[in-house]
Amino acid sequence: MTAAERDRLGEGLLAEDGPLVPGKVVGLRASHCPACARWEFPALAYCPGCDGRAEPSALSAQATVIGVTAVLHPPPGALVPVPYTVALAAFPEGVAVLGVVTAALDDVPLGQRVETVAMLIGERLGYGFQLAGGAG
Ligand SMILES: [Zn+2]
Repeated sequence: MTAAERDRLGEGLLAEDGPLVPGKVVGLRASHCPACARWEFPALAYCPGCDGRAEPSALSAQATVIGVTAVLHPPPGALVPVPYTVALAAFPEGVAVLGVVTAALDDVPLGQRVETVAMLIGERLGYGFQLAGGAG
């Protein structure tokens, strides 16, 4: 797979204009409703809260871990080799997103700050989280 193909595959979820490479800090492509201030990820054209027209917008790059676990047995069709860590990360916009973390479970306490990065998931460029400084 070429870098251009990976870029194209990542376009749907990653809000980034330049070339995407694994490890690059990015914002997730979300949507924001100007009428009721609701955020959605992945982005939607219309707000599920008020049926208003939603506007494309990017989530902050940093979030806070509010749930975390380790995956020890591969689910059917798994693209990521086990073991790996999955966290639920709460963004300042009020959206929580599940993603793979590039750290061992013991190194990802609740309250840990993480940042969104472009990450290869199998052959596709998707997103994941990496540690971003101290807890809090
Ligand atoms: Zn709305």
